[in-house]
Amino acid sequence: PTYLPAADRYDTMTYQRSGRSGLRLPAISLGLWHNFGGVDRLEQARAMLQRAFDLGITHFDLANNYGPPPGSAEDTFGQVLAQDLRPYRDELIISTKAGYDMWAGPYGNWGSRKYLVASLDQSLRRMGLEYVDLFYHHRPDPETPLEETMGALDHIVRSGRALYVGISNYGPEETREAARILRELGTPCVIHQPSYSMLNRRVEGGLLDTLREEGIGSIVFSPLQQGLLTDKYLRGIPEDSRAAADGRFLRPEHVTDAVLQQTRALDTLAAERGQTLAQMALAWVLRRPEVTSALIGASRPQQIDDAVGALHNRHFSDAELGRIEAILGA
Ligand code: NDP
Repeated sequence: PTYLPAADRYDTMTYQRSGRSGLRLPAISLGLWHNFGGVDRLEQARAMLQRAFDLGITHFDLANNYGPPPGSAEDTFGQVLAQDLRPYRDELIISTKAGYDMWAGPYGNWGSRKYLVASLDQSLRRMGLEYVDLFYHHRPDPETPLEETMGALDHIVRSGRALYVGISNYGPEETREAARILRELGTPCVIHQPSYSMLNRRVEGGLLDTLREEGIGSIVFSPLQQGLLTDKYLRGIPEDSRAAADGRFLRPEHVTDAVLQQTRALDTLAAERGQTLAQMALAWVLRRPEVTSALIGASRPQQIDDAVGALHNRHFSDAELGRIEAILGA
């Protein structure tokens, strides 16, 4: 069956500018870290990508190593692009990254120019693309000079492989330095991809201030804390959950009584706001003007509906923010 996107797909999504750039991203973006690999069902992956695009999610986030096996999420995305999304290429922002272990030998990891350029060429082949919209250095490399890594990003844009570049998992000072080098090269850093959620507030300790001062946008990953900030674990660990079924990143021992006490109290507040816990968690990261987009994952299309529903109520009263602080501080 031929896919026809929803005609009203641009009616409800909001698009926000990434820092001081021309790039606008949907307030909710979809990442392909889990559930889009070679081990997952292609038809489910396809259904999620279609649902997302129908809801105005124009941005899909990948990395060279997403799978498993590594590379297979890009293969999956390439297949769905070929089947369904190719006619809408100019309506899409597709990102990928390099920075973690990808292939054997000294050139398949970290931040050398050799690794970044070769990896992006592999990613383009897997996805069947001539260019990506956004390319990231996935994590800082303590051994390669930042000038080389940023020089590679500048080269990647000038050679037509990417339109924009960004960085991920860099600290505040590394970010300032990377932004300075890129600015001098003439290729601005338009976005940073850090983790941020109600249960992980590291970015509030300086990074968000740096991004605001530098005019860099942000897309925050794991805003649902991999599912902990949803109703999924409130009554135990379901078999079809990341904590039970995957075990690489979120594990049963992360679902502690202390976390559940907080998420149950947050769930009560969300209900008073007329939202699900997931929706409140997304609205909460989006309350910060430095946050351009909340980058969710999903294992089924309904979770994407749930996420986009967050946009119906993004406002927090001071009293609500105070209650959230009290719950999180408890
Ligand atoms: P989330 O915090 O959004 O967690 C997503 C998971 O939570 C889903 O797979 C699902 O898991 C569960 N979930 C989502 N919505 C609901 C809902 N409405 N109700 C119940 N459960 C729900 O984000 P991720 O950790 O998946 O990360 C998102 C993206 O961020 C990645 O795909 C990737 O693109 C990016 N990322 C980047 C990193 C980096 O270093 N730059 C690192 C990590 C992620 P379940 O299987 O249990 O249903």
